[in-house]
Formats: sequence, C-alpha cells, structure tokens
Amino acid sequence: MNNELKQLVCKLQEELSLSLAEYEYLIENRTSEIAEYLASKAVEVKKNIYSNAIYIRGLIEISNICKNDCFYCGIRRSNKNCDRYRITKEEIMECVREGYNLGFRTFVLQGGEDSYYTDEILCDIICCIKKEFSDVAVTLSLGERSKESYKKLFDAGADRYLLRHETANEEHYKKLHPEEMSFKNRIECLHNLKEIGYQVGCGFMVGSPYQTNKTLAKDLKFIEKFKPDMVGIGPFVPHKATKFANEGAGTVELTCFLLSIIRLIHPSVLLPATTALGTIDSSGREKGILAGANVVMPNLSPISVRKKYELYDNKLCTDAESAQNKKELEEKMKKIGYEIVVDRGDIRKEF
Ligand code: SAH
Repeated sequence: MNNELKQLVCKLQEELSLSLAEYEYLIENRTSEIAEYLASKAVEVKKNIYSNAIYIRGLIEISNICKNDCFYCGIRRSNKNCDRYRITKEEIMECVREGYNLGFRTFVLQGGEDSYYTDEILCDIICCIKKEFSDVAVTLSLGERSKESYKKLFDAGADRYLLRHETANEEHYKKLHPEEMSFKNRIECLHNLKEIGYQVGCGFMVGSPYQTNKTLAKDLKFIEKFKPDMVGIGPFVPHKATKFANEGAGTVELTCFLLSIIRLIHPSVLLPATTALGTIDSSGREKGILAGANVVMPNLSPISVRKKYELYDNKLCTDAESAQNKKELEEKMKKIGYEIVVDRGDIRKEF
C-alpha cells in the first residue's frame, strides 16, 4: 500500500483534520486499496460509538412545489412537466402514525420551498406530532428561511434541520444555482440553525457538475470547521428536465470514499447512506454503511405522491427504500452485520 496515503489516513484519524492540500491529495491519488483501509478505520471508529446499530428516519416529502430554480434539481420551479403536489396536515399525521407503528422514532419533513408552509402551519404540524408522540424527533428539511422562522419552528418542537450546503466553494455554488440564490445566505442559515440549538445537517452531492477535487477538499474543510451533527452526501444523478440532463452521475466509489473521510473527521456524526446511493447501485446503501454510514432514511410519503418528488431520474422509492418494506431493509442490514434499532437516534455528543 502507498505509505504516504496510509500516513495521511492515520494522521486524519489522530488529528481529525488534514490541510486542504492533503485532502485533495488523498482524493486525487486514492486507490481501491487505500479506500479499503480508510473504510476499515471509519467502521472501527463508528462501531466504538454506535456499535452495530443503524438508525432509521421516516422521510415524508410534504411538497414538491418550490420557488427556487436550482440547476440540478428535478422539482425546480421552471420544470413545467413536474406534476406538483402538497400534502395536508392530516396526511402527514397519517404517515407519522404508520411510521410509528413500523418502529420509526424520527420523522423528516422534506420539501421544496413552498410558501404555503408558513410558520403558523408548520408549528401546528410539529406540535401535533409532538403531542401525539412524545418520544419522537422531528427533522425539517425545507430550505432557507429567516432566523426568526427557524426559531419559531424550534420552539414548536423541531429537533433537527437538514440543509445541505451543496458546495463550500462560492464560484462552484454559482454554477449550480441561479443568480438570485446566495451562497452566503445558505451558510448563514446553517450558522443560524446551529445557534438556535438544532442538531444540524449539511452536505453536498458527489460528482455534481463543475465539482473538482479542490472543491471537495473545501467541502471537507467546511465540515471539519462547522462540526455538523449530520452530513448528507449522495451521488449527483442527472434529471432529464434540467440543464444538467446530459451530465454524468457521481459514483458509488467516490461517495463511499468521502463517507469514510467524513466519519474520521467527525467520529460521532450521523451519516446516512442516502437514497441517491441506493438508486445508482442496488447495494449502494450497504456499501455506504460498510464505508462508515450509520443512518438510512426510508420513504414514508403517501404512496400516491412518491413518484412526483422526483429530484433526479429514477429516484428509488420502492423495495428496501420504502418504509413499508422495513423487513427487507432489516434483512439486508443483518446480512452485513448491522441491526436496525427503534430509537430517536440522536448524535452521541459525549464522543
Ligand atoms: N428544499 C430543500 C430540500 C431539497 S431536496 C432544501 O433546499 O434543502 C434535498 C437534496 O437533494 C438537495 O439538498 C440536493 O443536494 C439533493 N438533490 C437535488 N437534486 C439532485 C440530483 N439531481 N441528484 C442528486 N441529488 C439531488
């Protein structure tokens, strides 16, 4: 094995940090051998904290109506062929009840930036979930909002917020988003969420257009400094109705390599093996777990809308990706030595 790369992995494990140049070098020169070594370290670190437990989250996609026009995203506002929907509070409650019975103790409400969901409406939904089920965590993933809004939702009972930074390089950010969207605002939102007291998740797509090993190194440095509680990364997958329709998808290989690095940077981080990873490879989720991930987020949206929340082509929402097929997921995890637990799955802060 290349000794220089091996030493970088050991340094990362000991110091939880590398320089930008070192991250870039590690990514640039990776081999399958070093990836295996890195993954074994990442799994060791993860098991010391979480043993072989896998946390599950029920993902409820509440609306695909969005005021934004992100160049990569299938539900961007200028996609006229997108069949738009939003689900009601009662439908959300039905999803939560069904999920609770299936053993879910975290619910993620995700959606486009749909102005229908005012603070008042969201606070009411959050309160209702918390009132009926006192032992669950509510995660929101509803894009950029004001600090006051985030505070109100937190006070209503929301525990966590997922807002991928998408890229830590401002120039790159501009190539993925229209001019009216601001990198600075996105980062400010993340800081606001943290200040308010949420468990916060950032993240990015792997293999997005114009991404380089340099921009990836910056993403890793950002994660190192920001210290999020969760990091969502998954391969970029093109969507036919976007201007990136003909771009190549990200790879399982690089996604897994980065999952391992992120686990070593931040040993206790909650790290999902994402739907996008399961979409481009039928054993993608397992590969993600074996690289250091410890969370999966099966789809709990009403069946009638599942296909409509199409962020990218052929997005998986059936089989082990469906909350209703938890048994199948359990079997798959068991086969690789892991166990799905009935638990809120909070970050272990003591580590
Ligand atoms: N409106 C919310 C939720 C966005 S969807 C928000 O702004 O946070 C959740 C994530 O899906 C996005 O953050 C993005 O990283 C990812 N995503 C969008 N389009 C994608 C694509 N074509 N391929 C892979 N991931 C994609």
